[in-house]
Amino acid sequence: MGTPGAGKGTQAKLLADRVGVCHISTGDMLRDAIRRGTRLGLEAQRYMEQGLLVPDDVVIGIVEERLRAPDCKHGFILDGFPRTLAQARALDELLARRGEPLTAVMLIAVPRDEAIRRLAGRRVCDKCGAMSHVAFDPPARADRCDRCGGGLAQREDDREDTIRHRMDVYARETAPVLEHYRGAGLLHEIEGTGSREDVSRRVAASVG
Ligand code: AMP
Repeated sequence: MGTPGAGKGTQAKLLADRVGVCHISTGDMLRDAIRRGTRLGLEAQRYMEQGLLVPDDVVIGIVEERLRAPDCKHGFILDGFPRTLAQARALDELLARRGEPLTAVMLIAVPRDEAIRRLAGRRVCDKCGAMSHVAFDPPARADRCDRCGGGLAQREDDREDTIRHRMDVYARETAPVLEHYRGAGLLHEIEGTGSREDVSRRVAASVG
């Protein structure tokens, strides 16, 4: 959990690799559906472009399906899901049916101004999905991915007015989910400022 720009995706990928479980990012799955032009993608795009949440039933459906894949048999890290109380409750039910409750919920906390700076300068490779930042992690060649040479672009929803919208949606819809997990004694709060490696060490220490 964490506001847009807190570093959820980066840390979720690092942790999933380290512990050998699958990484489930609803944002990545929706962007992939948009790229492929599927019906799901066409529906999701309308919401995502405006920084709004995609409807609960759509997102719950894709997570449910993804969890059935063989690579999720030994555990999973959810990234960007659940984002509403309805999603959190649906997830509780889904996992209860699987007899597999959540082990931990991690909240990566970053001041709002810092998160906005990170998002506004973020660039994503259109070929391999690698991320860079115009100021904090600039590519060797302008607009070219260091990893594969693909083109770098700004995510449509990383434009400044859309970022502010996403922050408001987080405060309204997602912040209550934190209380749901705090009440269940699952919430680990992690200081998200500093380098990727600093935060990764804190994440590892927090969940053992
Ligand atoms: P992210 O990559 O996690 O920042 O997600 C990008 C966008 O995808 C969000 O602003 C939403 O429009 C949509 N999205 C991702 N995950 C969810 C979710 N769990 N519920 C609703 N919308 C989502």
